Amino acid sequence: MATDHPPFRIIALLASLLCLGSVEIARAENEKVVEENDIPAICKGLDKAFAKRNWGSNPCRSLEWKSGGKSVEGRPLMYLEFGPADSKNTTLVFAMVHGDEYTPLYQGFEMVEWALENMKNYPSARLVIAPLVNPDGFFDFPKTRMNAHGVDCNRNFPTRDWDRDALRWWNKKFRSDKRRYPGPHANSEPETAFQMMLIEKFSPQKILSIHSPLNVIDYDGPDGLKLEQFSTEYVKKCMELRAQVKAKSTGFFPGSLGNYAGQEMGIPTITLELPTALATEAKAYWKQFKKGMVTVVTYEVPPKKTQKKEAK
Ligand SMILES: [Zn+2]
Repeated sequence: MATDHPPFRIIALLASLLCLGSVEIARAENEKVVEENDIPAICKGLDKAFAKRNWGSNPCRSLEWKSGGKSVEGRPLMYLEFGPADSKNTTLVFAMVHGDEYTPLYQGFEMVEWALENMKNYPSARLVIAPLVNPDGFFDFPKTRMNAHGVDCNRNFPTRDWDRDALRWWNKKFRSDKRRYPGPHANSEPETAFQMMLIEKFSPQKILSIHSPLNVIDYDGPDGLKLEQFSTEYVKKCMELRAQVKAKSTGFFPGSLGNYAGQEMGIPTITLELPTALATEAKAYWKQFKKGMVTVVTYEVPPKKTQKKEAK
């Protein structure tokens, strides 16, 4: 009522303008300012994330990171190398391809800590770890599965069926689910190019990509988390790397890493889906997962010739 009076109307108008102004400024800041635009800032962000989840300390700051390009929002795409450059047994590990999966991030960094302590014991093996493939998704609020373009970074690899099937499947099978958008075209995203670059650069004998929560390593459903079985089963699966790649699983989509690196490039690729994405479970998973680490790193994939002979 009082605002009908001219002076009040002016004050109300000014107030609303000021208010709108501040909203606009806040929006503009959110859109433009990316805090984690270099590696020390990413490490600072990770420290906070680890502290918040009671995950203890994070080794990020003390590591010799390499950068493999920038994310959509300009964050560094980071990886680490352990072991000799001329190794014939290189394992490439990806974690946090989907930015809202907490448990894989923790596994990725625990693997780094494990490598710092233990790789000296396996002098002929090489290990390359990219523990935060999708930093934009992780540092988004709320965290998102996709990258900053809204693309699922595990559906964007340039597999042979991509042009024909990726968008068609997405429309039909996934009812245009935003969380599984494969992108406008194959390899459209820097996070995909980053993973491809690592595959090309290191020619790994095997790849492990850590996800959650589909529980692909089968050790009973979510009600019976029989973690003792997890490591046994995990090691067994590692020994069967080759068979794993050939096995039909629900994980093969146009543009997925399994399809691209495993099926088309013939690199044994395990997509390990942890049972949940719950941060509170991360330590328990690592406790079990760790038991399979030596196998992951030292397991020698038979050379292709031998595989063919064996098959005959
Ligand atoms: Zn995932």
